[in-house]
Amino acid sequence: MSARLIDGKKIAEEIENELKAKVSKMDTPPKLSVIQVGDDPASTSYIKAKSSAAKRVGIELTHHHLSTDTTESGLSSLIGRLNSSVDGIIVQLPLPKRLESALNEIEPENDVDGFHPANLGRLVQGKSGMKPCTPAGIVELLYRSGNDPKGKNVVIVGRSTIVGKPLSLILSQKGVDATVTLCHSRTSNLQSFCKEADVLIVAVGSPDTVTAAMVKPGAIVVDVGVNPTDSGLVGDVSSDVKEIAGQLTPVPGGVGPMTVAMLMSNTVDSASKN
Ligand code: NDP
Repeated sequence: MSARLIDGKKIAEEIENELKAKVSKMDTPPKLSVIQVGDDPASTSYIKAKSSAAKRVGIELTHHHLSTDTTESGLSSLIGRLNSSVDGIIVQLPLPKRLESALNEIEPENDVDGFHPANLGRLVQGKSGMKPCTPAGIVELLYRSGNDPKGKNVVIVGRSTIVGKPLSLILSQKGVDATVTLCHSRTSNLQSFCKEADVLIVAVGSPDTVTAAMVKPGAIVVDVGVNPTDSGLVGDVSSDVKEIAGQLTPVPGGVGPMTVAMLMSNTVDSASKN
């Protein structure tokens, strides 16, 4: 039997509608600034998706498009000015290495991407703070599709700072209560870990990393990967997984729209505190 698809696009639309209702009661629209350095085509398309979502929700988004010869002090001073005038700031990644330290100039309350060390530290401590959008979106997707992770054996493949690692922290927090295993490129016998998962989350960035033989029958599989191929975007999970999984997120239309919805949610939360 084929897995039920978890429709991230539809769930993201539900969240956007809830946010739109909140924004309509605010005196002024939330303000979000997106900084882009250079012309990376993937960044441009992600910013387009964020701008469209902001428009639907009623968030005022300003796109600051800087050239690749921007200096660290130039970027820092723009962030400094924005810190006191907007509710949320994101710097679209990837960013040239030499500019990366400027990211820490974003005030933690304005860090709607949830990447600032202060916000990641709060996550480790189990305190409230801005949560990184992709991990928060995955957890929201599980809840809203009727898959409470409490007591579940969750296996995450990929330990990056923007997806796998913070996701493992959110899922293992008191109150969420999943039992989490975090795998990576040095995990020996990845299959044996994946095969035990009630919920298998794959964030690697390489097609066919997880095949049907690695999945427990009936498992919930969340495919985070976005890999451009000649035949369009594909995830990290091979196409035969849908024959064995109970539920599966599609690529595109699974985690991607949830990431954008969580960015909108963080921005609205920040505006309601300001
Ligand atoms: P990174 O490259 O930062 O991290 C990849 C992780 O996968 C690393 O921890 C790496 O291990 C691990 N890994 C690599 N190869 C293997 C393997 N063969 N077996 C097990 N683990 C492996 O990637 P990101 O976390 O930034 O992104 C992952 C994917 O998710 C990408 O396709 C990206 O485009 C997508 N993505 C999608 C988003 C969305 O909104 N839909 C948002 C963010 C990312 P090690 O640490 O040992 O090197």
